[in-house]
Amino acid sequence: MTGLHPHIKPMIQSYFRQQMEIYGNELPLSDAGLIRHFLDYPASGHGNDIQEIPDNCQRCALSRSRRHIVVGSGNSNARLMLIGEAPGEEEDRQGRPFVGKAGQLLDKIIAAIGFERQEIYIANILKCRPPGNRDPQPEEIEACVPYLVKQIDQIKPKMILILGRIAAQTLLNNTAPLNQLRGEQHLYHGIPALVTYHPAALLRHAEWKRPVWEDVQRLRHLYDELVGDKGKWKQVRTK
Ligand code: SF4
Repeated sequence: MTGLHPHIKPMIQSYFRQQMEIYGNELPLSDAGLIRHFLDYPASGHGNDIQEIPDNCQRCALSRSRRHIVVGSGNSNARLMLIGEAPGEEEDRQGRPFVGKAGQLLDKIIAAIGFERQEIYIANILKCRPPGNRDPQPEEIEACVPYLVKQIDQIKPKMILILGRIAAQTLLNNTAPLNQLRGEQHLYHGIPALVTYHPAALLRHAEWKRPVWEDVQRLRHLYDELVGDKGKWKQVRTK
């Protein structure tokens, strides 16, 4: 794609985006990989994908209402993995995780502790959007979570930050409320894991900014202790 005239690429991307809008995951397979590659979308079952999720997965009823399967995105060699709940409306539309307002807030949160998106890997418990962003149903989690387990197994992160109650209770197999799960260090199959509020919840509850800031500072300190590949951290924000 690098040899294209700079004016041509946006035109082709615009055409491909229309195709994605129209056909979603029903794109002819021979075209889907090319289009996803061209738009820098995460592949979902082809090529060098982090793991195989069929484009037409129908393991649960969410397959009937989704527009795109949102596999995950980021660095497949990430030391830090972030795990949220499920795609929202914008993620479902674009086929990428954390691209709406919650995603923009997440970018600011991780930047405040010296991380960038391209260093980490982000995935969700569910790969398809629950209608109206309702809570995932137990049978949907049961159907989809094996994909996430494989992703974690392939990426082998050194640390995990879990975002929100549903993801925390699922991964930690713990029914405690989120305010009890955050603030403590957990283990997910031997991988140190911390819990904090989901950025979408943070958009509705400004009073949770302080606890999130405390959680991510703890994350950075623990990361420096356990991984220690980021050099000295210059704290850029105090509230
Ligand atoms: S949520 Fe997961 S299990 Fe359900 S259809 Fe989507 S990819 Fe398949």
